[in-house]
Amino acid sequence: MSNKLLEIRNLHACAAGREPKEEILRGLSLTVEPGEIHVILGANGSGKSTLMNVIMGHPGYQVLEGSLEFDGEALQPLKPFERARRGIFLSFQTPEEIPGITVENMLRASRQALTGKPVKIMSFRRELHSVMEELQIDASYGQRYMNVGFSGGEKKRNEILQLLLQQPRLALLDETDSGLDVDAVQIVARGVKRFHNEKNACLIITHNTRILEQLPVDKVHVLLGGRIVAEGGAELIEKIDREGFGSIRDAAEELQGK
Ligand code: ADP
Ligand code: MG
Repeated sequence: MSNKLLEIRNLHACAAGREPKEEILRGLSLTVEPGEIHVILGANGSGKSTLMNVIMGHPGYQVLEGSLEFDGEALQPLKPFERARRGIFLSFQTPEEIPGITVENMLRASRQALTGKPVKIMSFRRELHSVMEELQIDASYGQRYMNVGFSGGEKKRNEILQLLLQQPRLALLDETDSGLDVDAVQIVARGVKRFHNEKNACLIITHNTRILEQLPVDKVHVLLGGRIVAEGGAELIEKIDREGFGSIRDAAEELQGK
């Protein structure tokens, strides 16, 4: 068995129905091993969310070239729900509102869909309430419609609630911490820490370096213009915090010019 959880090689992708010349991802390679936390930094519009969507199999994007493997298996033939069943989880940058379906029913239905087994109402409710308590989510949220009327912070906490209940093998977190106050960022950081172990991995997109101070980051990738232009350890976060993306962009352009 491969010890790589996610292996992306030379990925080129564009939005579905667009011309290949409008490529968003332009030759991206990335490997994530079990037990690792990777961070993707990059200016707005670099292709970060597109990358997450392509890993999850979002039908709005098209792979033009390259390969994606999860635990040694090619992802491209798999539909999004099949990828979810293999253990890939995507937390949205902007979580959807689903009127008419309560948080509890939605989460229980997800568990059933993912495991293919019936999930008992009462034992699931107990589990849900204990995770909610940890995330300081009021128990009444379980009976509210999914994300309807939730504040930005509540929506993001709800994403972390799903993460902890689903226990995926690879968590893709797309700005799960953006728009949150300091306390809510702490809750998200605590949730990610509680989720993470030596068997699973996280790929985190964030602009918030405070959350990263609290997580054991293994690798940082800087994505600009659909390519990874710099890689390193946690020290890269500090450098970008200090200098912005400018110096990295200049160095990357110089390298390409040669
Ligand atoms: P990021 O998450 O890094 O801010 P995105 O991946 O959301 O960036 O977007 C990267 C670029 O691709 C942007 O210029 C965006 O407008 C474009 N893009 C993303 N999704 C689509 C789409 N479905 N159709 C057309 N263009 C898209
Ligand atoms: Mg984005």
